[in-house]
Amino acid sequence: MEKQMATEVLVETRPTLVMAEHPKQDLWDTVLTQLDDVAQRLNLDPGIHAILRQPERELTVAVPVVMDDGKIKVFTGYRIQHSSARGPCKGGVRYHPDVNLNEVKALAALMTWKCAVVGIPYGGAKGGVKCDPRQMSEDEVRRMTRRFTAMIMPIIGSKRDIPAPDVNTNAQTMAWMADTFSMLAGKTVTEIVTGKPIPLGGSLGRKEATGRGVAIITAELLKRERQRLSDTTVAVQGYGNVGSATATILNQMGCKIVAVSDISGGLYNPRGLDIASINQHVAAHPRRLLEGSEAPGVEKVSNHELLVSDVDVLIPAALEHQIRADNAPYIQAKMIVEAANGPTTREADEILNDQGIIVVPDILANAGGVVVSYFEWVQDLQCFFWDEEEVNRNLRRIMVRSFKEVWDFSREQEVSPRLGAYMLAVDKVAGAVLARGVFP
Ligand code: NAD
Repeated sequence: MEKQMATEVLVETRPTLVMAEHPKQDLWDTVLTQLDDVAQRLNLDPGIHAILRQPERELTVAVPVVMDDGKIKVFTGYRIQHSSARGPCKGGVRYHPDVNLNEVKALAALMTWKCAVVGIPYGGAKGGVKCDPRQMSEDEVRRMTRRFTAMIMPIIGSKRDIPAPDVNTNAQTMAWMADTFSMLAGKTVTEIVTGKPIPLGGSLGRKEATGRGVAIITAELLKRERQRLSDTTVAVQGYGNVGSATATILNQMGCKIVAVSDISGGLYNPRGLDIASINQHVAAHPRRLLEGSEAPGVEKVSNHELLVSDVDVLIPAALEHQIRADNAPYIQAKMIVEAANGPTTREADEILNDQGIIVVPDILANAGGVVVSYFEWVQDLQCFFWDEEEVNRNLRRIMVRSFKEVWDFSREQEVSPRLGAYMLAVDKVAGAVLARGVFP
């Protein structure tokens, strides 16, 4: 009732709506609180709990870059390895002005849980450079990438820690990283990174893999909720690698995508957006943005309006902490599938739970990327490449199985899918730590 009233007010005041101020919450704090809760529920050994509360290794590096004007600028970069208990560390590299040590630590821990929940033999890592790539030329980004790779070289390796793309990094970034590592190693090491271009040992299907995984999970969720794909409306926040692939694949599956957004704003059409023509527009835009792609019947909306729009499924696919205590009470979606990492704050999660909104957590929903990264690594190591159909079939098998495990376990334990996924993941990682014992 309260939710409905709030929505009515929102619609009336739409043009002048201002977002409430919110203190910036620390993602590392969110991750630790979640772990502490799970440790208690699992009755985890306090020593194992203490091990999992700290990353195994934290590296901060200074990355000097000669900018195009000839001046030197020094960027700060990080590579964090949270856990290698279940296998080599794995995780993306992010370029963003908000990158900081705690954020990278949190994202590394999320990778540990993610790899465990889908049962692939990796631990978790993450990297990032605090920079604004939108203000830099391609040459500057290339020089920064090469120097960053050289600086983290002592701790990465194809059986140690394998980077991949994340926010504002892509296949080209991975090509520069692979080349830099190879030049310094004196041999070609394609398996040092995943998400590479196909001619350099990349895997077919990797580019769309995270979005494909999100779409598979959404379809599985709808099946459990006895809702047909063709009767489902979807809003997607963020239209980069993950958001655009998710929207495109769900649209191909029959869902109506009614809202999408990126940093330039959002688009809304209750009758469904023309995703194919939006994709054409974004591909031709110099900064790959939605801006300027309005068509007849399409309304411009803010990111806030997108998040609270009246849809069946909301898919946050931008950055962390987009769903917070200030906007969660207004969310009308029945289901949320977390394509971004950490898009929901703890307070918001409680609000959504109380409202009966089903949330499929990031560590399950967006695991498709790391699953196909794993396939890419396996293909590189074997020098034997699969066709796209095989990649997609194996991705589907793992995502469907993992969804079923999390869903059934959560029902059995009477906990949310997030808690269920965390309990399964932490239990697997703790089991590996216990089996290995503490060295020496
Ligand atoms: P990307 O850089 O390709 O795209 C990010 C998108 O978010 C862009 O469209 C950008 O305009 C938009 N955006 C940024 N701030 C926004 C805001 N405040 N409101 C609305 N839109 C905003 O990044 P990506 O690779 O698509 O990653 C998106 C999310 O998915 C991140 O949380 C990332 O960690 C997570 N993720 C990515 C992968 C992967 O394979 N790339 C895998 C798993 C998880």
